[in-house]
Amino acid sequence: MADRLAIDGGSPVRNEFLPYFRPSIGQGEIDEVVDTLRSGWLTTGPKVQRLEEAFKAYLGAQNAVAVNSGTAALHLALATLDLEAGDEVIVPTYTFAATAEVVVHTGATPVLVDVDPESGNMRPTDFEAAINPRTKAVIPVHIAGQACDMDGINEVANRHGVVVVEDAAHALPAGPAGDLVGRTSRFACFSFYATKNLTTGEGGMLVTTDDEAAARVKRLSLHGLSHDAWDRYDEIGSWYYEIEEPGYKYNLTDIAASLGLRQLDRLGELQAERMAQAERYADAFSEASWIEGACAERPEEHAWHLYIVRLNLDQLTCTRNRFIEALRAENIGASVHFIPLHLHPYYRNRFGHRPETFPNAFRLYERSISLPLYPGLTAADQGDVIDAVMKIGASFAR
Ligand SMILES: *Cc1c(COP(=O)(O)O)cnc(C)c1O
Repeated sequence: MADRLAIDGGSPVRNEFLPYFRPSIGQGEIDEVVDTLRSGWLTTGPKVQRLEEAFKAYLGAQNAVAVNSGTAALHLALATLDLEAGDEVIVPTYTFAATAEVVVHTGATPVLVDVDPESGNMRPTDFEAAINPRTKAVIPVHIAGQACDMDGINEVANRHGVVVVEDAAHALPAGPAGDLVGRTSRFACFSFYATKNLTTGEGGMLVTTDDEAAARVKRLSLHGLSHDAWDRYDEIGSWYYEIEEPGYKYNLTDIAASLGLRQLDRLGELQAERMAQAERYADAFSEASWIEGACAERPEEHAWHLYIVRLNLDQLTCTRNRFIEALRAENIGASVHFIPLHLHPYYRNRFGHRPETFPNAFRLYERSISLPLYPGLTAADQGDVIDAVMKIGASFAR
C-alpha cells in the first residue's frame, strides 16, 4: 500500500507502531480491584462512597455524585432542570457527541454555537448571541483541558437566568490551583472514560454546589429510588424502597471506583508527566511556521487531556488527512478532536447547518491533529513523534 511508505520513501522513524493512547494502570489499581472482587461487594457500595469523598476533597467541591459515565453525569444534571419540549440548551459545536445528545434525550432542543478560533472554547459573546426566552441552560466544554472563560460565561448566564452545566470531561484538573474547575460550579460533569486523565474504565462524576440537586441526581442515578433505599448496602439496610420518580441505571460500580481511588492518589504524578510532554512539544514546534502548538493561555493551569496541534494549511501542500496518513506510515498514531457536531448528519439535517455556519469550529477541525500525550509515553517515543511531525512537515512545506 502506497500510504505504508514513509514520506521520503525510506524507512519510518520507528519500526513498531506507537498507539495514539495507552492507559496507565499501576499495581495499586490492580490490587484495589482485586480487593474489591474478594470483598463480595461488586456494585455501588463503600468504594464508590470513598471515591465521592476523595473527589470532593480533591476539588474542594460541595457535593460529588459518582455515575457510570460522563454522559450520564451530563444527562442527570439536565434532568434536574425538568426541561420540556421547546426549551433550548446552548452547546458549542466543537465537542464530542455526548454534550448535545443528552439535550435531545431530555426533549429539549440543542442550539449549537461557534467557538473561539484559537482555543476551541465557547465564548461568552457567542453564548449570549444565542440566548432567547426559551433558553434554559448552556453546556460549556473545557476543550483539551483549558478552562473556558467561566467568569464571562457565568456573568452572561446569571444576567439571563440560564443554568450552566460544565462539560468538564477534559478538565481534571484545570484552572488555578485554589479554584479548580468544578469547585464552585452549579454543575460540572467529569468523565472517567478509558482515555481521560483519571480513568475507571467507564465512569463519571457530577459535582454541584446545589445540595438538593445532588440528592436528586443520586436518586435518579439508581431508578429514582428513595434515599433510604439507596443505603441498602449498609448492614442495617432493609429490603424496603420507594420509587419517587422514574430514574435511570447510571450508578458506578465498586470495581470501577477501586480504579478511581488509586488513580486519584496518582493524579499529581500523572499530570506532571502530561505537563512535561506538553512543554516538550511546544518547544519542538516553536520554530516551524507551518504548525501551531496546542493553545494554552496558562500552560500550568491546563489539564493537558489532549495535545492538539493546528496545521497552517496555506504553508503546506497537503491536507490534515494526508498528514495523518503520513504519520501512520511513520508508525505514529494520531487522532482528530473534534468533528464539529454541525457536520454530522443528525444535526446537519435537523437544523440545516452547512460547514460555514460555524466557521471557527470548521476551520479548527480542518487543521487539527491530536498527538500522543499520556503518562507512560517515554521520552524516546515522544522524540519519535516529534521527528515524524518535523519530517512530514518539511516534506510538505511550501
Ligand atoms: C469523553 C467525553 C464525554 C463523555 O464522557 P463518557 O464518560 O465517555 O460518557 C463528554 N464530553 C466530552 C467533551 C468528552 O470528551
